Parts: sequence; C-alpha cells; structure tokens
Amino acid sequence: LDFCRRLPKVERHAHLNGSVRQSTLQELYKKTSEGTSTSSAASVAIAKGDTRNLSEMFAVFGVVHHVVRGAELLTRVTREVLEDMSADGVVYAELRTTPREHQDVGLDKRAYIEAVLQGIEEHRRLAKDGVCIARLILSIDRKDPVTVAEDTVNLAIEYSNRGVVGLDLCGDPALGWGRWRQDWEPAFERGRKQAGLKVTLHAAEMAGMDEEMADMLAWGPDSLGHVCFLSPGEELRLFESRTPVELCLSSNVLSKSVESYSAHHFGRFLERGHPLAICTDDVLVFSSPLSREYALAMSTFGLDEAKVTDLARDAFETSFLEKGRDYNEVLARLRAPS
Ligand code: IMP
Repeated sequence: LDFCRRLPKVERHAHLNGSVRQSTLQELYKKTSEGTSTSSAASVAIAKGDTRNLSEMFAVFGVVHHVVRGAELLTRVTREVLEDMSADGVVYAELRTTPREHQDVGLDKRAYIEAVLQGIEEHRRLAKDGVCIARLILSIDRKDPVTVAEDTVNLAIEYSNRGVVGLDLCGDPALGWGRWRQDWEPAFERGRKQAGLKVTLHAAEMAGMDEEMADMLAWGPDSLGHVCFLSPGEELRLFESRTPVELCLSSNVLSKSVESYSAHHFGRFLERGHPLAICTDDVLVFSSPLSREYALAMSTFGLDEAKVTDLARDAFETSFLEKGRDYNEVLARLRAPS
C-alpha cells in the first residue's frame, strides 16, 4: 500500500458529492436541525464486511446533497477532496458533478459550477505538499428530463475554456435507460461539436443494457465507466473499438455488480491490453482511496510495481486534459522516479 500511495496517480472517475470527506459530512450533518445524531452521515459509508445494491447506493447521495449546500460549502468540499487526493499521491484528477440549484440559499447552476471551480483554484493556490491538478466534468443524471441535459450542455460549453473539459452520463440506470438515441446522444453530440467537449458515459451498470451499449459504441464516446454487465458480444465490440474504460473495483464489488475482486472484468481488460484507468467512483461511500484500489489490483491480479507504474501512466493517456502547461507538469510528475 505504501508503494501505491507514493506512486503518482491519475483519477478519472470521481463524483464530487460521492467523494466528500467523511469527517466534513459528519460535521455538516450535526449542524442541520435533524442532526442530533450523526448516524445517517456515518451510514453513508458502507461498513466493513457489508455490501449494498446499486439502488441502495444511490439513496445515500440524498444525505450528502441535503447538507452540502451553498457556494461556500461546495468550494470547501472540492478543496478538501483534492487535498485528500493529493495526500494519496494523485497528481491529476477529473472531478465530475451534476450542477444543481440550491434555491434555499439562492444558488443557481452557474454559481454551483463557479463554486466548484473556485475550490479547484483554492487547492492549487493553497496546497503545501504538492498540487493535485484538476479539471471538471459536468454530469447529466439519467433521471432528469432532456431539458436539464440541454441546460447542462450549454453550461459546459460556456465554461469549456475555464476548466470544464467534458460531459458525463450518470445516475441510477434503473430509472432512465433506453433514452440514449432520443435524448442523450443529440445533447452530447452538441457539446462535442460546439466546444470540443469530451464525453464519458456510465455504461452497462445493469444487466440487459446491451442495446444501449451498442448504440453508445456506434456513436463513439471518449470513455466509458464501469461496463460491468457486458454480453460477450458487446465486450468484444468494446475491445475492438479501443474506447478507454474507467474501472472501479471496490465500487463494483461493494455495490454487488461484480461478485468478487478476482472475478472483476479488470482482469480481462488488462489481459487484452485495453486502455483503462483504475478509479475510485465514490471514496466517501466505498472508503477506498485510489492508492488502495491500485493495491487491490496488485494483490488480486498479481501485478508488480513496474506494471502498476505503467497503469498509472496509461491512465493519463486516456484523460481529457488538454495539451499545455498543466499537461506537461502532470506528465513530468508521472515520469519522475518515485
Ligand atoms: P454529484 O454529481 O457531485 O452530486 O455526485 C453524486 C451523484 O453522482 C449521484 O447522485 C449519482 O447521480 C452519481 N453517481 C455516483 N456514483 C454513481 C455510480 O456508480 N453510477 C452512476 N452514477 C453515480
């Protein structure tokens, strides 16, 4: 684990509100009127030896959304997420979040995005022991109507030269699948065409999503998340497409999408030499920072230090960071001897 902590790494799949520091969540929860006990906040993280199914997993985000309200808190949690990542050896992170209005505190979606970008900027300015350079991806939740998706695409275009590099399709697949062609594809296509935004999609998170997967692949996303439930035919098509994948071992095992670490499709993707990035998904929920995910991959699949070092560098090649000063800085840190 110590080697994996020191190893300079790249995080490509981390939901902001799923990555809030546990102690901060407890502190904020205590301050709410209902917060006489912190048990709800504590129960967001899956207890040792326990698991949750995907729908139960989605329910916990309500607790976080309930307390992380307003620009100041959004900035703070973003800064803390990056501080924690930096302490864990992450040198570049793509954070993703779903822009929301917090009407009770007069925050609109533009202010939401600005607050998160401010957190990224503050981390950069204040970091004492190494900066985790970051970019933002705006998420479109499957449960929302297409008008919300269009709104999010407009905002991503507007902020595309200020730190927003991509768009994501997320949310409970049980609530909104089957709308790819009609709703999502035109929205993502517009973001890509008008501002060169990259697109990553949560895909095959449930059994029976082959048709959507085939449509997604035919369109050509820049990256895909999870891909747990692929039929052999779709898996082959994905291999042939060389579309990079973001794989989250603990998330998939603890939310019962994958039976065990050794049965995780990471093994097959690695064997094929498919472009991939090991990621955390929601460190608040799964209590497993990126270094631990790398350590799990090492011990489960028998990887040596040289191999995981290569994996960390390869993850950067699949990232959405534009070429330039930050890109060169990350590259130099990934190549520096550890
Ligand atoms: P936020 O977008 O920053 O509020 O992060 C929390 C949100 O990310 C949740 O409400 C979900 O919509 C999404 N999310 C987190 N984990 C997953 C996942 O494993 N699959 C799909 N969506 C997810």
